[in-house]
Amino acid sequence: MRALSLAVALAALAASCRQLPLERQEHEDPYDSGGRLIAEQASYDVLRYELALEVFPEKRAIEGAVTVRARAGAPLSRLVLDLDPRLEARKAEWVTKGGAAPLDLERRGPRLWIRLPGTVQPQEEFSVRVAYGGAPREAPNAPWSGGVVWKTTPEGQPWIATACQGEGADVWWPCKDHVSDKPETMDIRVTVPEPLVAAANGKLAGVETHGDGRRTYHWTVSAPISAYNVALNIAPYRTIEGSLESVAGGSFPVVFYVLPGDYERGRELFPEILEHLRFYEELLGPYPFRADKYGVAQTPHLGMEHQTIIGYGAGFRRDVMTPRGDWGFDRLHHHELSHEWWGNLVTNADWSDMWLHEGFGTYMQALYIEKKQDAARSRDYLAAMRKRIDNRQPVAPPGPLSAKGIYWGDIYFKGAWVLHTLRFLMGDDAFFQALRRMAYPTPDLERAAGGASCRFASTEDFVAIAERCAGRDIGWFFDLYVRQEKLPRLAAERRAGALELRWETPSAMRFPMPIEVRIGDATRRIEMPDGRAAVAVPEGTEPVIDPQAWVLRQGD
Ligand SMILES: [Zn+2]
Repeated sequence: MRALSLAVALAALAASCRQLPLERQEHEDPYDSGGRLIAEQASYDVLRYELALEVFPEKRAIEGAVTVRARAGAPLSRLVLDLDPRLEARKAEWVTKGGAAPLDLERRGPRLWIRLPGTVQPQEEFSVRVAYGGAPREAPNAPWSGGVVWKTTPEGQPWIATACQGEGADVWWPCKDHVSDKPETMDIRVTVPEPLVAAANGKLAGVETHGDGRRTYHWTVSAPISAYNVALNIAPYRTIEGSLESVAGGSFPVVFYVLPGDYERGRELFPEILEHLRFYEELLGPYPFRADKYGVAQTPHLGMEHQTIIGYGAGFRRDVMTPRGDWGFDRLHHHELSHEWWGNLVTNADWSDMWLHEGFGTYMQALYIEKKQDAARSRDYLAAMRKRIDNRQPVAPPGPLSAKGIYWGDIYFKGAWVLHTLRFLMGDDAFFQALRRMAYPTPDLERAAGGASCRFASTEDFVAIAERCAGRDIGWFFDLYVRQEKLPRLAAERRAGALELRWETPSAMRFPMPIEVRIGDATRRIEMPDGRAAVAVPEGTEPVIDPQAWVLRQGD
């Protein structure tokens, strides 16, 4: 499943017209993901990955193979995959129904160049298997600096997890390490020593016991999945199981994999997990992966949005997220769950639009506080986030960008604030409709359970949806708030009997943003179609501008 957004199509076209110098290909950072695709990788669409590997906790090593099924988009004589140079590619094979034949395999820095038996023609499908193994990179500081995390449980048993959003999945398995291409389906087999359990994405198809102290967990993923979302979670887990009645009808399984010593705490958190799911289903539409499961796995790192098996490392504490403090619920779980919609159902085709994952995901916690507590508490939460905004670069800068190229706080906190201000501009009905249509463009898509609703989207797509729901042109709003970094300033002056308001914007950008003013006991919405307004204020009355703090601007 490849992104068809204009930006990515143009990037791929540019790449295929102008081959990057070999030197640049050889020396790209193996621990970064995304950015501009090289022509050879823009020329195929991954249809399916079948990953089978064995994990050796004692040696901190893995050994396995991945079969890639792909469709050529242009004549293809070599298949180029990514794999961290720390891991050895042992062999490559051409796989057909009749069997497997060896292929020439050349390592060039962080990539594997595999010579195909002939030139695969556009639209032809083919399969290549790569056997690989070694000691994968140990995550220096997961999830921010990722790889494989090898820890032990309090009882001294192995506790292993992967987290590789910034680095890409090629830190532990050979793949096309780019966010713009997902397989339609995937198959994952993980062999571990007993009594360890391997929790991964999708549905548990079976557990095979080999009789020699090892067993293999077989997982099937029925929906498109980003490579960085494919995750191993290995520990002597116990499971807490339930199900949720979906707003789409029917129910889906919910499973929490917890360490044995945390079983009781896990049982206490479980009802909250269901409540978070219900909140998102009502706000955004059904849980997208209900054909597989909703899973949460206790991890030795803080957390990650691994599709259908969310990494949960908050340790049952409510104060591990920025802004700090206990806000009355498990924000880490709530945030990571938001990504099942913002990130896994709707995926940025390029990391330059990552605020669609993180800004949207972060605003959901403010909405949850508003719903479960009240609007005043939610405003406190937004005010705490407001302090983290630094306006150093645009929230949605021009792409292509790599995962590390975009990663900084404003895509979270300013992104959330942009949505809050947009809500004021549009009004609740149109705004919440826009959120829902961003998740699921049509009501029909809400009913499809098997991943058919997964899609790539860009900031432009959201602007178009918001404009459709608002029934007017609001491109100026996004130009100011996400396409450049500076905030507008609201100049206010008292003159005889009036309050004069005027928006000051970078490069005099058009900004017809309304604002609320409270005079006495009455709060009025003041429209400013040409960026200015005068409001009558009786002498001796002190007006309060934007008393409910809706509008993100300088100096507040
Ligand atoms: Zn996030």
